[in-house]
Amino acid sequence: MASASQTTSPGICYLVGAGPGDPGLLTIKGKECIEAADVLVYDYLCNVELLKHARPDTRRIYVGKKAGDHTLPQEEINKLIVQLAKEGKVVTRLKGGDPVLFGRGAEEAAELQEAGVRFEIVPGITSAIAGPAYAGIPVTHRSHASQLTIFTGHEDPTKPDTSLNYAKLAQADGTKVFLMGVERIEEITTEFLKHGAKPETPVALVRWATRGNQETLVGTLADIAAKVKAAGFKAPAVAVVGDVVTERGQLNWFESRPLFGRRIIVTRTRKQIGVLSKQLALLGADVIELPTIRIEPAKDQLAFGELVQDCHTYEWLVFTSPNGVDAFFTMFDKLYNDNRCIGGVRIACIGPGTAEKIKERHLAVDLMPEKNFVAEGLVKAFKDHQNMENVNVLWVRAAETREVLANQLTGMGAIVDEAIAYQTVAETEDNLEALARIKAEGADMITFTSASTVEHFMELKVPLPEGCKVASIGPVTSAAVKKLGLPLDVEAKENSIPGLVKAIEKFWK
Ligand code: SAH
Repeated sequence: MASASQTTSPGICYLVGAGPGDPGLLTIKGKECIEAADVLVYDYLCNVELLKHARPDTRRIYVGKKAGDHTLPQEEINKLIVQLAKEGKVVTRLKGGDPVLFGRGAEEAAELQEAGVRFEIVPGITSAIAGPAYAGIPVTHRSHASQLTIFTGHEDPTKPDTSLNYAKLAQADGTKVFLMGVERIEEITTEFLKHGAKPETPVALVRWATRGNQETLVGTLADIAAKVKAAGFKAPAVAVVGDVVTERGQLNWFESRPLFGRRIIVTRTRKQIGVLSKQLALLGADVIELPTIRIEPAKDQLAFGELVQDCHTYEWLVFTSPNGVDAFFTMFDKLYNDNRCIGGVRIACIGPGTAEKIKERHLAVDLMPEKNFVAEGLVKAFKDHQNMENVNVLWVRAAETREVLANQLTGMGAIVDEAIAYQTVAETEDNLEALARIKAEGADMITFTSASTVEHFMELKVPLPEGCKVASIGPVTSAAVKKLGLPLDVEAKENSIPGLVKAIEKFWK
């Protein structure tokens, strides 16, 4: 794979299938092409989540292509990728589904070829097959269909110059799948019926297939057009016609997951957001990632560095957040390059998420609350564990946090030093897409995983969508929710990400 470091080598353009939307449905080669890209050129049907695989310095160019709204006409796109590759760039052209199934990938390839630019075609998972599969409809089946016909519904079937032969299509055996057909559903079904297809033939339309907001509409050739109209069902959707549709009755796995159809906003830092989003998405939720906070290094790096340097002189090292662990070891690794320099200091953590980070360093956690993963819980754990009189403690903390831990440990006789490891600031970048979605589609729930996520959400001055429930990870976050005047609907019993996910699932059971 070419990479940016080979700037002397001529450019290349990868025509990559981005899959139908589920970010997991990208090929390994597709991901490598995104990682290698100097420039990403992507359109409407590509899930923007895939852009995360790109390097931070990769240029991202959106070329649109929503039906009727061509941000950049095809000729301009062709010119653009040729020009960029000729400049020596690694260009990754991401196209929804597969690049050469109704994707004009062949035209782009031909332009590149003509211009003498190297290119590769990286096939993708097409919506034509994956869309039905995610609706519980296999496009072929031993008992229903041994043949599959895929056609475009974009051409007007009533125009005499259409290249589609509806007589043949209607008579063809097996399953028929058509893309780009929602707007012409009435003409297409009429043509099918006119040419002898059975009116009771089952039809399904799958909209935004494989994504959290997937919607499926089922009917027959006789009534699907009316149903589309009645439901206000819109593009993009893949249509599947044939007896295979009946399999959905027992195979509808995707839409029957516990959180399917629930749109949930996640507000953690961009770096941490994935853990919660993924767990919610696995349960079927349609997740909108809206990072409201960002972690920055502490202002006084010198003071922090001195305390980290002396960490081995303490009896206890206390971590109250995963971010604290990250900041601590970033500094530690700058000062030492040997884990043993941490010495015999014992390690206490506020909860499982923080403990997980310590374990990643192959260090053991000596103390953690049994439940109640908040400062009070940790204080109790210390109380139950030992006499704290004259015990030296180094607390690795955020600039803005409650003083409970220091106050109470000091009250128990401990000598507490506080290492300010990081600060939490508002995330202001790249939230436009998420905010636009919230405004357009609303949300069923917003989740908060720390008081700072609540505070910085309020600063965005985005009104809570109508009917939007509020879920909090624990009592401290809940207090912030209430203080800022938001309603509170869910509080995790166990104050951790899995605990929050469990509580959300239970809420909608
Ligand atoms: N190359 C793409 C198809 C591009 S044509 C592929 O292989 O999937 C655009 C059409 O594809 C849309 O109008 C719609 O019919 C279909 N499509 C693409 N992604 C889709 C999705 N996630 N859900 C439903 N239909 C989709």
